[in-house]
Order: sequence, then C-alpha cells, then structure tokens
Amino acid sequence: MGQLAQPLNFMGTFYREVRQAIIDIETMFSILAQSPEILDKPGATPLLVREGRIVFDNVAFHYEPNRPILKGVSFEAEPGQTIAIVGPSGAGKSTISRLMYRFYEPQGGRITIDGQNILDVTQESLRAAIGMVPQDTVLFNDSIGYNIRYGRWDASDEEVREAARLAQIDRFIESVPEAYGAQVGERGLKLSGGEKQRVAIARTILKGPPILILDEATSALDSLTEHEIQEALRRVARGRTTLVIAHRLSTIVDADEILFLDHGRIVERGTHKELLALSGHYAGMWNRQREAAEARAKLLEAEREE
Ligand code: ADP
Ligand code: MG
Repeated sequence: MGQLAQPLNFMGTFYREVRQAIIDIETMFSILAQSPEILDKPGATPLLVREGRIVFDNVAFHYEPNRPILKGVSFEAEPGQTIAIVGPSGAGKSTISRLMYRFYEPQGGRITIDGQNILDVTQESLRAAIGMVPQDTVLFNDSIGYNIRYGRWDASDEEVREAARLAQIDRFIESVPEAYGAQVGERGLKLSGGEKQRVAIARTILKGPPILILDEATSALDSLTEHEIQEALRRVARGRTTLVIAHRLSTIVDADEILFLDHGRIVERGTHKELLALSGHYAGMWNRQREAAEARAKLLEAEREE
C-alpha cells in the first residue's frame, strides 16, 4: 500500500494541476471573449476626467440579435455620487458595468464621462480611470504584494500597506510568515473569497481611480465579513463617482439614487425612502429580503437555545 500511495498521490497532484491549467485557459478565453474586436478609433484621444460625471443616454444593447438586454437605459451620476443598480438576476446589471468598462459597445444611445463619449477615447485611458471590483476576484499566481501593487506599479511599500489597512486585510497579511511576499494561488496561500475580495479592494484603493464600479462585490460573503468590507468600500467610494450593483439591498440604502432594473429597463428610481413609499418592485424585494433575514435570525436563535 505504502509503495502505491506515492504514484497515486502524484497522479492526484498532476490531475489537479492539469485541471487548474484548463480552468486558467478557460478564464483567459472568457476574458478575451469579453472584448470582441473592441479597438480604439483612429485618432482616439485620452479620456480627461475633470469631475467624474457619468451619463447613460438611452443605451440599448444586445449580445445576440433579437435578444435585447438593455432597452433604452438612461441615468446620470453626478460627480462623487453613488448610484446603486438593483433588480432580479438576469436583468442586465452586470451588462451595464461591462459597457462602462467597454468590454462591449452599445448598439444604441451613448455613454459619456464628463461629456466625452467613451467610444471616442482610448481604452487604456478609460480603464485607467475606472476601478472595478468584480463579484469573483481572480488573483495572479504571485505574491500578495504584487496583487495589490497591480493597482499602481509606482506605489511605495508604505502606500501598499496603507491600502491593505483600509481594505482590512493588513492584519491577515502580517500574520503569515512571508507577509507581503507570500505567494498566493495553487502553490501558495489559499485565500478565502472574503480575503481575495479584500485584496481586490486594496488594489482598487491603491489605484485611486476617479470612478468605481462594484459589481456584487460582497455578495458571496457572510454578513459579518460583508459588513467589514462594506465599511472599506464606503471609504473608497468617498469623493468618487460610484456605480454599485448590489444583491443585498441593506448594503445600498444610503445611495444617492437607486435604479431598479427589470428586463433591461429601469422601472423605478429614487432614494431608498422614495422607493419604499412607492410600494413597487423595490419595496417588494426589500420586504422579502427582510423577512428572509428575520427568519434566519430566528432559526439561529432556536439553534442556540437547543
Ligand atoms: P445581471 O447582472 O442583472 O444578473 P447580466 O447583465 O449578467 O444580468 O445578464 C443579462 C442577460 O444577458 C442575461 O439573460 C444573460 O444570460 C445574458 N448574457 C450575459 N452575458 C452574455 C453573453 N456573453 N452572451 C449572451 N448573453 C449574455
Ligand atoms: Mg450580475
């Protein structure tokens, strides 16, 4: 048995590595597939962010002909405002973030930042101006420090540490032997979803972009971790124009405006208070989530009493 275990172990490792390589390739292709032939226009100029005003003007978009995804979406984010986009799964929320980052181009309407159509500026300058915290963060197989510094290569060690502190990942990093030099990924440190998320947030803090897009950045976390990360995100969002796509409505009650997207249309918009008073889609979703949270709390209490 002992003799056999070695080669079998080897096969296990080998299999895992092959599988990981396949997943990496798939991830790469899915990222590439997200940018189908998006090229700079001849003579494209760099985006000049003066204030960070974002305007979606009657934006229409489909991935496949005959299947409209966004059907005339219009909204405005004033400089420094936080706009939340909520709605059922499949409504088109992430599509809005992909259009902002120009992974795709709308077939109708226009998206402008400080009056410049994002189709007319260089992609490089557009993406430099936007910090995106996605739902699932994929880290590079490199050190934690590298993964944070990726936000801004010329950052000093002190700035990297400060970003980590703001993202509340500093204590975790300092608790591992190699600290910022610790390798992450398959062969190194395995980070939990929440830790990866905080690395991504630290990276975004370090980048310090004038525009932020948070796409369900905390939806996979338990509520305690979510609470801590929300705090970090609020700090990052201060003074920056921010689009927050959220599943848990309790995280966006303070937004300057909430857009409820349904089947590619904004069906309700307003502040949390205004939308509750409407007793429509938003209020319905809010009440369902609150009831679910209360039921969970009762269940926990019952378990504790047992
Ligand atoms: P949400 O973020 O609100 O859950 P998405 O914007 O991700 O919704 O997706 C909106 C719709 O577009 C969904 O029906 C989804 O299946 C479809 N969709 C998303 N990405 C693609 C794609 N690359 N090709 C075709 N359809 C897509
Ligand atoms: Mg989504």
